[in-house]
Parts: sequence; structure tokens; C-alpha cells
Amino acid sequence: MQRIYFDNAATTALDPKVLEVMMPYLTEKFGNPSSIYSYGRETRMAIETARKSVAKLLNAHPAEIFFTGCGTESSNTAIHAAVRDLGCKHIITSPIEHHAVTHTIQHLDNLDAVTVSYVKLLPDGHIDMEDLEKLLAATEEKTLVSLMHANNEIGNMLDIHAVGNLCKLYNAIFHSDTVQTVGHFPLDLRNTPVHFITGAAHKFHGPKGVGLLYINENVRIKPFIHGGGQERNMRAGTENVYGIVGFAKAFELAMETYETDSAYIGTLKYYMHEQLKKHIPGIAFNGDVLGRSLYTVLSASFVKTERSEMILFNLDINHICASGGSACTSGADQGSHVIRAINFNPNQITVRFSFSKHNTKEEVDAVVEKLKELV
Ligand code: PLP
Repeated sequence: MQRIYFDNAATTALDPKVLEVMMPYLTEKFGNPSSIYSYGRETRMAIETARKSVAKLLNAHPAEIFFTGCGTESSNTAIHAAVRDLGCKHIITSPIEHHAVTHTIQHLDNLDAVTVSYVKLLPDGHIDMEDLEKLLAATEEKTLVSLMHANNEIGNMLDIHAVGNLCKLYNAIFHSDTVQTVGHFPLDLRNTPVHFITGAAHKFHGPKGVGLLYINENVRIKPFIHGGGQERNMRAGTENVYGIVGFAKAFELAMETYETDSAYIGTLKYYMHEQLKKHIPGIAFNGDVLGRSLYTVLSASFVKTERSEMILFNLDINHICASGGSACTSGADQGSHVIRAINFNPNQITVRFSFSKHNTKEEVDAVVEKLKELV
């Protein structure tokens, strides 16, 4: 039986065209980019060409683009730097951020390095902007606001410009985890008031193990990882040349076909939403499904029964990949902190379905058909 992969918000299939441009750097072009001989300079050139291409697609300057090991490392770097180097003593965040952000902030809180405020959420899971402004206005300390652009579990999208403008007004530093939107949504950083954003190639058909950190040219920070002078002294360690080249190629391809891919993937999401509503009694959906929401993610809650409690397991037996929560907790039975924060109903079982351009309407039909049996 063919596998149906509906867990694209966790990770995606590597595009063969991306692998093709990576291959030379996995084989014959292995020279050290930091060396002085020309064989190494070739790989340095590949990294800098990738940086320019990524910068252009984000409408940023190449000097603002840093390659890291993953989205998690990028957020760790930004949040630590905001506290250590930019004087932030207060962090405003939300209870529905990815663990890459929440656990980093909790760590700093446990060290007594910061105080943390959690902004209120509206019933549809969006940030309460009035509460955000209240929190910003009430603080005298330098503040970091860390709010994600699109939520990986429910798909809700932040009005990044509105939050950025509020941060500007109150002289706060703004970090946005954009791991779900880089490669999925056009970003124009020259015209977006944000200090740090993050990305990960494996979310848009690039390789695993390579991340992006954008640092606005007006902020100066120190490295998070110490060692050699790579990434202009900002991220030590011999560069992941094939990963960086793959990041740029995957990003170029994603942005080339963004219009058609996003429209197509959106039709799958809305079709599945409609079919589930029609065929599964008592089904509910999380977040602002039909509103300000990412086209790739559909979070559904099923009425809890003995059968539905086994749903992820049974989907797996039927070769259907879906997730119970964020990527790192797929398969774990703790339940999701995001779902708990927006709509805690102990009588529901939540499953996240997330789509890519490789999915089809026939796959949606097959999954809905299977779900009819499984719940
Ligand atoms: N932030 C969000 C919103 C994510 O969805 C993920 C991946 O699940 C991450 C951060 C972590 O990215 P990475 O696995 O590249 O560290």
C-alpha cells in the first residue's frame, strides 16, 4: 500500500533538483571554504552566491543573512543575543510558540535573566493585539517580543507588520519565528519592521540540518556558538556547504512557483476541511482555519472515544503520516501545549494534517475514507 504523507509542516521531501546542485559539494568539491587555496575558494564562492540569492528573495542585504544548523539554533541565537547583547530584561511571548522558542525563554527565565509575560490569545488563537500593546506600554525595561509568523500546529498567521510597528513604537526588539513561512510565503524584509527572523530548508523541500537567521543591519550581536571565524565571526564551525547550496536552491524553486503551489495546496486544505465536516460527526477545527491561516496546515479535533484515542497509531498502520502536535512531539501522547492553550477540551483528540505540492485530492479522499472507519 502506498504511503500518504500529510506531515509536511514537520518536514518535506527533498526536491531532486536541490539534490542535484548539492551533489558536487558532497563529492568532488569538498575543499575547506576558509582555506586560501583556490580549491577552497570555490566552495566559499558557492556559500556567498547562496547568501546573495537568499538575501535577494527576502529583500534583505547579504550581510544580514547567516546560515545556521537549524531553525531551533537560529531562534536560540536571536533570543540569547537580545538578552545578552541588546539589554532585553523582559520578554513578551505567547503560549503557542514552538518549543524552540518557549524552551529557550523558559531557560532564560529559570536563570533569572529575564521576566516573561505571555500575551493573551483570542478564541480563534490569534494574538490579542490590545493586550500586547498593554504589556508593552506597562513595561519600563528593554523588551524582546518573540511571536511566530505562522503557527506550526494550527496555521494561524500573525500580522507581522502590525506587531513590528508596535515594537517600534515602544522601542522593543522583535524576533519572529518564521520557520513555517520562509519558502511558503513572500517576505519583504526591507519593508518589515523586524530584528530577527528564522528559517529551515527542510520545511520547503530543501535538506535537513541547515537554518537561516536574518539579523537586521541595525542590530549588533555577539555569536552564540564560539570558535572559528565562519559566517563573519557570527557562527563558528566549518560550513555545511552542500546544505547552504541546497537551502538557496530550494528557496529559489519555492519562490518561483509560490503562486501556483500555494493556490493548489490551499485547495487541498479547504477540500479536506469540507470533507471532514461532511463525513465525521462532531469534528471541530483549531485556529482561524478559513481566515488568516497558512494554506499548508489543517488541525482537526475528533470526539474522544476508545477508537479515536488510537487514531495516530491506526493512521500509521494504514501508511498515513500525520501528527498529533509539533514536529518534535509527533507520536507523543502528552497532547499539545498549543491546543491546550487555545481550546483545552479533554474529550477531543487532535490531529494535524499538513500538505505539500506533492499531495493530491485523491489522497485527501483516501484519508477521509479511512478516518470514517477509524473514529
Ligand atoms: N519553529 C517552527 C515554527 C517549526 O515548525 C519548527 C519545526 O518543527 C522549528 C521552529 C524548528 O526547526 P528545526 O527543526 O529546523 O530546528
